[in-house]
Amino acid sequence: MSELLSKYAAVVGEDVVDQLLGLARSLNGLKVVHVNSTRVGGGVAEILTKMVPLMQELGLDTDWEVITGDEQFYACTKTFHNALQGNPVVPTRSQLDAYEAVNAANADELRDTLRDADIVVIHDPQPAPLLGQIPERRGRWVWRCHIDLSRPHRPVWKYLYPHVSGYDGSIFSLSSFARRLPHPCYLIPPSIDPLADKNCDLPQEEIDAVRQQFNLDPDRFLVTQVSRFDRFKDPVGVINACKMVRRYVPGLQLVLAGGTATDDPEGAEVLREVQEAAGSDPDTRILLLPADAHRTINALQRASDIVLQKSTREGFGLTVTEGLWKGKPVIGGNVGGIRLQVHDHHTGFLVDTPEGAAVRMRYLLAHDHARQRMGTRAREFVRDNYLLTRHVTEYLALFHTVLEGRSERVEVA
Ligand code: UDP
Repeated sequence: MSELLSKYAAVVGEDVVDQLLGLARSLNGLKVVHVNSTRVGGGVAEILTKMVPLMQELGLDTDWEVITGDEQFYACTKTFHNALQGNPVVPTRSQLDAYEAVNAANADELRDTLRDADIVVIHDPQPAPLLGQIPERRGRWVWRCHIDLSRPHRPVWKYLYPHVSGYDGSIFSLSSFARRLPHPCYLIPPSIDPLADKNCDLPQEEIDAVRQQFNLDPDRFLVTQVSRFDRFKDPVGVINACKMVRRYVPGLQLVLAGGTATDDPEGAEVLREVQEAAGSDPDTRILLLPADAHRTINALQRASDIVLQKSTREGFGLTVTEGLWKGKPVIGGNVGGIRLQVHDHHTGFLVDTPEGAAVRMRYLLAHDHARQRMGTRAREFVRDNYLLTRHVTEYLALFHTVLEGRSERVEVA
């Protein structure tokens, strides 16, 4: 077993890594290409950064390509994102033209790579029209949708449908996210990488140093939400919830740590709204961290008593997985993939309102034992369900399926 695989085995057990190796054996040399629209920022980039090297280590010839666009393109895809999660918004005609033109231009750049790949995984709507641009493709193409499509704004879904219906299959994180499509739909929830800087164990001194760096008092409670500045993450709701809790827990510290993804044009505007809501409160820290501040985020999550993710819509919510993996109870919005991870009263609490978040924070901050008990369960729950090894196992099984037709068995011996 290679050094990297041995490190995974130490966290998840040798049997899990053996199964991965078994599935990978007959896929040796398979040409796999992932395509998305940003290399940093947001959950998809976070996953691919770790998944691609592990697939390579397992012998698959795996690449990751990123399409690039102009302002109109990103405005269009941000509107798609909002509309697909239910907002009644539609891109303008010129934005849709930019969407199609950018995909055509990227298809020209990527044509040789994509045409010859055995498997192409297209992530989210941004690069979805690439399929139609490369009719001479040889391999199997899968659309990996990370977004909750359960209640899309109809006109936008109607526009996107012809761009995604021609794929050989699609992947969703939860069954409730999927829409009816004329090809097989697979369910594969995301994961975190336990070996990554974002999630590895840290020495206590490093955690203390990050506390000091941001002037956080170790003798007072700290709650943290790590998120892009996006209204669906409800950062203002978090600020309001903490204001309510401070009536009973004076001095409660809140960190809202975020950055902007390069494909998210609304971030600056939301950040201004958040700063306004926080006002001059010295116990609310809004941190704008660079995209590679993984260890800092790791340390902030570990320094926290509770991790928050009070989203009002959420694909999966990797920050929830990250918080649980750090042994913290998570108070999360009762939506999307957060429901898969936060088991109410068990690994944390699901909430619908800032008031609900405040009640649960107050309870957890008053009960050390409950906090610790939930945190311990939280870590084990992630070990069993949401680490990268499980994720790649499911991808490899899916590759077997789409390559060999819908066979009932994959021989891994
Ligand atoms: N993240 C980060 N820096 C930030 C904000 C977020 O590194 O300033 C990371 C976060 O730790 C997580 C990912 O970006 O790994 C966000 O994924 P999630 O699924 O929670 O949300 P998305 O941004 O994809 O909606």
